[in-house]
Amino acid sequence: MKTKQINAYGTDSPEADLKQLQIERRTVLPEDVEIEILYCGVCHSDLHFAKNDWGMTQYPVVPGHEIVGRVTNVGANVSKHKIGDIVAVGCLVDSCRTCNNCKNDLEQYCPEWVGTYGGFDKHLQTNTHGGYSQSIVVDEAFVLSVPENLDLAGLAPVLCAGITTWSPLRYWNVGKGSKVAVVGLGGLGHMAIKLANALGAHVTLFSRSPNKIDDAKALGAHDIVISTDESQMEAAMGQFDLILDTVPYEHDFNPYISTLNVNGILVILGFLGVLEPPLVTVPMIMGRKSVAGSLIGGIAETQELLDFCGKHNITSDVEVIKMQDINTAYERMLRSDVKYRFVIDMNSLR
Ligand code: NAP
Ligand code: ZN
Ligand code: ZN
Repeated sequence: MKTKQINAYGTDSPEADLKQLQIERRTVLPEDVEIEILYCGVCHSDLHFAKNDWGMTQYPVVPGHEIVGRVTNVGANVSKHKIGDIVAVGCLVDSCRTCNNCKNDLEQYCPEWVGTYGGFDKHLQTNTHGGYSQSIVVDEAFVLSVPENLDLAGLAPVLCAGITTWSPLRYWNVGKGSKVAVVGLGGLGHMAIKLANALGAHVTLFSRSPNKIDDAKALGAHDIVISTDESQMEAAMGQFDLILDTVPYEHDFNPYISTLNVNGILVILGFLGVLEPPLVTVPMIMGRKSVAGSLIGGIAETQELLDFCGKHNITSDVEVIKMQDINTAYERMLRSDVKYRFVIDMNSLR
């Protein structure tokens, strides 16, 4: 297979900083779209993956799955996109396309889904490499159309932070009259507030950070509960229909379950692993409450979200950085010091 060498940023061990390296991209196959990357968002999953927090990373890894770019070439059978179009790629670049989940637009739950990075690239027989790079080649079925009216840097985080919060909001039918709470005001959290608000819900933020109260209100939260304040947690009991928990690390979920209303659902989006402390079942049984999880969203649902963002003028609040600043950005993300998503201007890599 013909390939091209391009510049990227990645790492070959969990301890090392990210640095510039060269990777290969295939030249376009008949169904492929080649994209010059303009912006790529920085997701906390990129950091988890680079540092092997989930124990599944194969190195070298080139993170990045919030990609916006310009089409520079298309294969002979491509009909959806043409050279010059602004397009987007999220967390998925392939799936089996024949299983029930694929047929039902749930490619993210396909047993053979291919992540934008860290997946298995059947063409090159190596790991897939993500958006911290000059360009990417993706099958047109996984390339999304972008509304014309939105700022492109602000749009990039919609591709992961946006869809990951949109999918559970839609699945659990959030709309006017819903009472939604969001735990953690970071990349996912700030998109969750904007989207739940735009769907007409009453939105509450749970945060450890009193210094984020004004921002949360400006983003569309109606109430803020400081989660480290026991009296505020007590006052929030029995209220919410749906809680989206975006906190990346181990923490106690029990106090949030107590704030659910009867039939309420706590959706875990952030922490991947075994819960510690364990869940106490009493409040669940006494109130028919559920604890669930949710993974990103399918391609059709991501397109639905992009169109919704175009219609409602929704983008992410971003701090645009150079590729060379990524290691500092990771350190700041670990300190929750980001308002509210870093986005890399990929011109800095050219
Ligand atoms: P982020 O921007 O770093 O935001 C996380 C927020 O959680 C922080 O701003 C902070 O908010 C709170 N937080 C951080 N550390 C905490 C701790 N130790 N204890 C309590 N609260 C803490 O991260 P993100 O990009 O939104 O990603 C959040 C998580 O979702 C990551 O684990 C990521 O891997 C995961 N994720 C999952 C999916 C999926 O499909 N399920 C998709 C994308 C990302 P406050 O200061 O307000 O407390
Ligand atoms: Zn992500
Ligand atoms: Zn499938």
